[in-house]
This record gives sequence, C-alpha cells and structure tokens, in this order.
Amino acid sequence: MAGTQGVRVDHAVSSGTFTLDGETFDVDNNIWVVGDDTECVVIDAPHSVDDVMAVVGDRTVRAILLTHAHDDHCRVAPALRERVVAPIMLHPDDRPLWELTHGSGDGVGDHLWDVDLGDGFEIMVGGTTLRAIHTPGHAPGAVCFHAPDLGCVFTGDTLFQGGPGATGRSYSDEELIERSIRTRLFELPPETVVHTGHGDDTTIGAERAGMD
Ligand SMILES: [Zn+2]
Repeated sequence: MAGTQGVRVDHAVSSGTFTLDGETFDVDNNIWVVGDDTECVVIDAPHSVDDVMAVVGDRTVRAILLTHAHDDHCRVAPALRERVVAPIMLHPDDRPLWELTHGSGDGVGDHLWDVDLGDGFEIMVGGTTLRAIHTPGHAPGAVCFHAPDLGCVFTGDTLFQGGPGATGRSYSDEELIERSIRTRLFELPPETVVHTGHGDDTTIGAERAGMD
C-alpha cells in the first residue's frame, strides 16, 4: 500500500543509569520505534539491545536515530548497530558527549556515529517522513524528530510533560533550550503529540500553555 497506512509508533521503557559530572542516577528511558510491518527506525538506544529488539521484532531497522548523546540515550547504539546493521545518526554538535560514553577512539576506527543529523534532515520509513529539528539547549546537538503525517514529535530530553528538560549540568544551556522550544517546537500544530525521552506523552499546545 502506498502512503502511510500501517505506519505506527511502538514504545518500550528501558531502565538503567545516567552519569554526568561525576554523578550517577537511576533512570527509565523511552525507546520509540516508528515504522510498518517490514521496516522501522529506532529513536534512542538507552540501556539494553534486547529491550530495543523486543519492540523491533523481525523488522528491518533503517536507522538508529539519537535525540542526543547523553549516555542514557546512546549507550547501546554501537551494539545495536552491530546487531541490526543500520547507521547511527546524531547531530555532530554532540560529539563531546558521545566521546564521554564511547571514547575518542584515538582518531581511528568506527568509534563514531555514521550520519550527521543536520537541521531539516529527513528520514523516510514505511512511507512516512521524520524531519530533524535541531533544538540545542539540553545538549548542544539535541534534535527532535517531527513526523507530520503521524501528528507527533519525538523530543528526547528537550521537552517533557511539564516543561523543558534539565539544563543544570555540563554542555547544557537554559536560555538556549527555551529559545529552541519557543521558536521551533511551539511552531508545530498545538495538537501535535509529544513523545518524550522519559515519562509520559504530552502535546505542544499543553506545554505552550504551561510556559506562557
Ligand atoms: Zn539527556
């Protein structure tokens, strides 16, 4: 079938830890999988390849999309890449965070991701399109993925139910995250469903009302 029939959003929660600035926290991360019965993309690869594969099933993974490179979002991305043979896509501004988790590789080898996600980059899957929106603030290379046909946006840790993501640690910027949210995410239709990196869904309209 042509069009977006059969495209769906699947979801799981994966538990583990987040470490930055010498502190470690227990966290539950959302794993989002967008696709149809034959192919999909994975958004974030937190703590366990098996947790991701339980949602993917026997579908072909076209890409591993990272909302940012905090370790609780990208830790198993290389292992997942090996399992499913799909490119890891990340905004290049998150290289310092990526290297905190996966090392600098001493300049050799495949220690990095595969495809740079620039603002406006489009990923096709199952007849629908995800468009990357660069939303720096929580992390310099934080990216949201808007799926206009599906009426939803995947915000990682940029926007949660209840407001912006945390900006208290290294590589974060509170003014920048507010600007990213107001100028980029709040431009989306208010009924757009927000699938977050942690916790429950919300909508653009609800969060816009909460920040006014
Ligand atoms: Zn984060």
